[in-house]
Amino acid sequence: MTHLETPEEFHARVAAATDDEGRLAVAIEEMPGWFIYPYELDGLRIKPLEPLEDAEPPRQGEDPADCSCRQEETPEHAARIAWANERWQLVEVEMKLPVTFVLRPRAHHDLADLPDDLASEMGVLMVAITAAVESLPSVGRCHVGRYGDGGAHLHPFFFGRPARMSQLRGSPLLDWEENLPPVPEEVRRANAAHVGRRLVERFGGTGPAWEA
Ligand SMILES: [Zn+2]
Repeated sequence: MTHLETPEEFHARVAAATDDEGRLAVAIEEMPGWFIYPYELDGLRIKPLEPLEDAEPPRQGEDPADCSCRQEETPEHAARIAWANERWQLVEVEMKLPVTFVLRPRAHHDLADLPDDLASEMGVLMVAITAAVESLPSVGRCHVGRYGDGGAHLHPFFFGRPARMSQLRGSPLLDWEENLPPVPEEVRRANAAHVGRRLVERFGGTGPAWEA
């Protein structure tokens, strides 16, 4: 049988590449050396490698009984819903980009256990959300990300990458984002409402909660 590498083996290989302080060298020939990387290299160093953990840290909502989907919806959450149908909610997220969303199934699932019918519908929705986000004048590309490290309830992200700002391309976008000035609430909401209305046109359902 093929041996699949263990966490210990992976971690040991990384640890073997560190220096006396447990630090990896900054890979200046890789991302940190690209012009899209937000930080200058002078003084930049990588944090010492931490020991391998005994287990994955717990996530919010790992037990469905504790997940927000089983609690009564808060007015704050309801007010941020840009589009919804019987099975999904597209929720506007406050970030320093033209627009940011998470897509959530109403039922408690993560990506790895999403039933096929919802998975099929999610694929169609991801295409439509991406097209709607990319139709915004201030957006150059819609970045899509599923991390799932903090919350167990599926919530893929859709990030509107600002148009004509080449430095903000690619995976460092979120490192730039932390350092950008806030986007005025009315600007974010107008962009999110545009996307919500596009989805209503294609799929029905309900549009931006704040325009209801
Ligand atoms: Zn849930």
